[in-house]
Amino acid sequence: MNQRPTKYIFVTGGVLSSLGKGLASASIGALLEARGLRVTFLKLDPYLNLDPGTMNPFQHGEVYVTEDGAETDLDLGHYERFTTATMMKKNNVTAGKVYDAVLSKERRGDYLGGTVQVIPHVTDEIKARIEEAAHGVDILLCEVGGTVGDIESLPFLEAIRQLRAQVGRENCCYIHIALVPYLAAAGELKSKPVQHSVKELRSVGIQPDVIVCRSDRFLPKAVKSKIALFCNVDDDAVVTAKDVESIYEVPIILHNEGLDEKIAQILNIWTGRPNLQRWEELAARVKHPERDVTIAMVGKYVDLTESYKSLNEALHHAGMAHSTRVHIEYVDSEKLSDPSILESADGILVPHGFGGRGAEGKVEAVRWAREKRVPFFGICYGMQIAVIEFARHVAGLAGANSREIDEKTPHAVIDLLPEQRDVTAKGATMRLGAWPCLVREGTHTYEAYAEREISERHRHRYEFNPEYRDQLGRAGLVYAGTSPDGRLVEVVEIEDHPWFVGCQYHPEFKSRPFDPHPLFVDFIGAALKARAKS
Ligand code: GLN
Repeated sequence: MNQRPTKYIFVTGGVLSSLGKGLASASIGALLEARGLRVTFLKLDPYLNLDPGTMNPFQHGEVYVTEDGAETDLDLGHYERFTTATMMKKNNVTAGKVYDAVLSKERRGDYLGGTVQVIPHVTDEIKARIEEAAHGVDILLCEVGGTVGDIESLPFLEAIRQLRAQVGRENCCYIHIALVPYLAAAGELKSKPVQHSVKELRSVGIQPDVIVCRSDRFLPKAVKSKIALFCNVDDDAVVTAKDVESIYEVPIILHNEGLDEKIAQILNIWTGRPNLQRWEELAARVKHPERDVTIAMVGKYVDLTESYKSLNEALHHAGMAHSTRVHIEYVDSEKLSDPSILESADGILVPHGFGGRGAEGKVEAVRWAREKRVPFFGICYGMQIAVIEFARHVAGLAGANSREIDEKTPHAVIDLLPEQRDVTAKGATMRLGAWPCLVREGTHTYEAYAEREISERHRHRYEFNPEYRDQLGRAGLVYAGTSPDGRLVEVVEIEDHPWFVGCQYHPEFKSRPFDPHPLFVDFIGAALKARAKS
């Protein structure tokens, strides 16, 4: 049988950032998958860091971790949540990675005698990465980060421009996403920013095939025709990505605007109409919940909820499983001197974190959850904080802490293990990616997974200190999950509590709208019970 050639969809953005390019790409992927096509994704990021792992969450938002332990852009999370594609290291390429490869080749002598230049050496490297990511699928959706017009994105745009000639016109589709603002004073939708951004794109040799207009309302036909005329695309190639209440409505909105049909036409793909029933059911469930529940998220990055993207989504997925709307209340741990502000919460979650800032507030939040028997979920740093709280207030180890928070603590119940002690480099050196874990029967964790062996993704440097294992165990800490060799503590629980689970890994990265994560489902279930009682 002839292998169908891979088709490429390139997604660029214009006017400004944060237009939801990642979500739009993920949604297009979902629509194409619903048409029976195999899709995968590539995110090209124009910055010079090798990966976002070393960036401050305030700068970059969440760092999404893949199965193979890559620290990547949060858009990869959208891709995995919206489709069945599995993201790996090769699915996120930064300018830093590209230059790093080119410079290594130069030192090795691969270009011996030549002058190494952006064109063709850097662009060739980018094209090779794009083709590598496209291997074995029908469609590669390749999203170029940043905004058209940025100096940094130029080599990427040049590479995707060149690729069209290489892979053939009928195998390549350029989609441009731009903002169409509504000016209340004029009572009008303004198409000029889109026109300018398309002009910018054309100046680097790319004529978009489709224009996705992000707007707070559906564009009337006249506005679409105007954009089509000025930007030189078909009338039906201008679609609206209207603001929506829930991101899970986006695939349906884009389908109703005719986007997947137009892409199929441009790429000359013969597929049936997509079956979107499950997306429709999902959107309906999100819009018409039967119950409400409030979860307090006690963290440091409360002003930048992008840092907790996967976590928020995992909570919402679990909510959907219970036909429940989850209200997430972000509580700044630095201001948590009086934990009674947690009174209205049906469940308390302490998420991941780095450094000592706000740690004491988190300890207070855990104490509140433990003593008041409020369902508690600690994730990574949150689990470590739960161990600290237990050590101090139940096992009587005054001053217990994590070595990360207090270098001189008398009881480093969380510490660096030998494998991390001599690590000095910061990039890609944590315990990363998927690790197996054995779950102990008779625990909340086992009840949730209903499986003995699980695998979850990690991103941390510190671990439960094995020296305290017996002592804390005698005081009642339950080791609900360990590494298969028994050396590393992966999940802790406490006895006589409705639901108190802390895990060293990040379950949120594996939660999907159609396959919510069991720990989140049970946490929300416990929070609903707590709410019913109060
Ligand atoms: N800072 C902690 C560690 O490195 C926890 C990391 C996290 O929460 N992802 O172990």
